[in-house]
Amino acid sequence: AKSQGRNGFQFFDAALRDEIQTRARLGNELRTAIASSGLTLHFQPLYSMPANRISACEALVRWHHPTHGMVPPDQFVGLAEENGLIHDLGEWVLRAACQEAADWPEQVKIAVNVSPIQLRNPRFLSIVEGALACSGLAPHRLEIEITENIFVQNSAANRHILQQLGRIGCSIVLDDFGTGYSSLGYLRSFQFQKIKIDRSFVQELPERSASGIIQAIISLAQSMDIPITAEGVETHDQWAHLNDLGCNQVQGFLLGRPQPSDVIRQSILSYA
Ligand code: C2E
Ligand code: CA
Ligand code: CA
Ligand code: CA
Repeated sequence: AKSQGRNGFQFFDAALRDEIQTRARLGNELRTAIASSGLTLHFQPLYSMPANRISACEALVRWHHPTHGMVPPDQFVGLAEENGLIHDLGEWVLRAACQEAADWPEQVKIAVNVSPIQLRNPRFLSIVEGALACSGLAPHRLEIEITENIFVQNSAANRHILQQLGRIGCSIVLDDFGTGYSSLGYLRSFQFQKIKIDRSFVQELPERSASGIIQAIISLAQSMDIPITAEGVETHDQWAHLNDLGCNQVQGFLLGRPQPSDVIRQSILSYA
């Protein structure tokens, strides 16, 4: 039994070593991709309600891996957060997104996902300012999406950087609302320009409990004068419910999938 335990331990050890090596290799490949245009952005439209116009597009990063093909962000953003590459990755995303949006009609904003770890970079404000200056994009057209993880450390530093971003004219959006650490206190103490209801609620529509939760979130947001976006809208039924509930903006496969820049341009020209 003793030697088996020992073998078991060695087996675990080897598996762990493999895992570490795989992650290290992936990390190196990702570093190369960031430095040598191996990343690309797709853009998903956000439609205003009830006008049904494209009022913004969300930039979603993809990794064009030489052997694995197109890798979705869920498979490398976490790694980048662990090994620190998120700072360079995030700067690349911000610059590329602002550059793209600078060519769109003035009323169409660009939403960029930012990891809470990026906010801890003392250079983050100047990275954003640099992306805006290089592209010529007006700050009010940049929406920075942050998930509720930001509240895990309800720190003065977080509050400070969000205030600074607000001061230069960017919008701060609370992403994936309802899944994490938000509380009414946090909502009041941070100034968000928009709240995005997580798609897990949207996808349960028209179930009554989901409908009740969304209704509650919308009236809460309305009482604070914050517009609401619903993400993950896949059916016309869900869209109609959200419209009835007074949702301000919708995003999802029903309205448009994430698309490369040339395709999204065509949609913007038709629907903005
Ligand atoms: P997210 O910010 O919640 O982005 C929305 C995700 O939902 C996207 O997945 C989008 O393709 C997907 N989606 C949109 N509409 C629908 C729908 O109707 N149904 C379903 N089932 N899914 C829908 P994607 O592009 O794979 O991105 C996943 C996550 O990766 C994002 O979630 C975001 O948290 C993160 N991410 C993406 N790009 C970046 C980035 O540039 N920086 C950082 N830090 N994170 C990013
Ligand atoms: Ca997002
Ligand atoms: Ca989201
Ligand atoms: Ca999400």
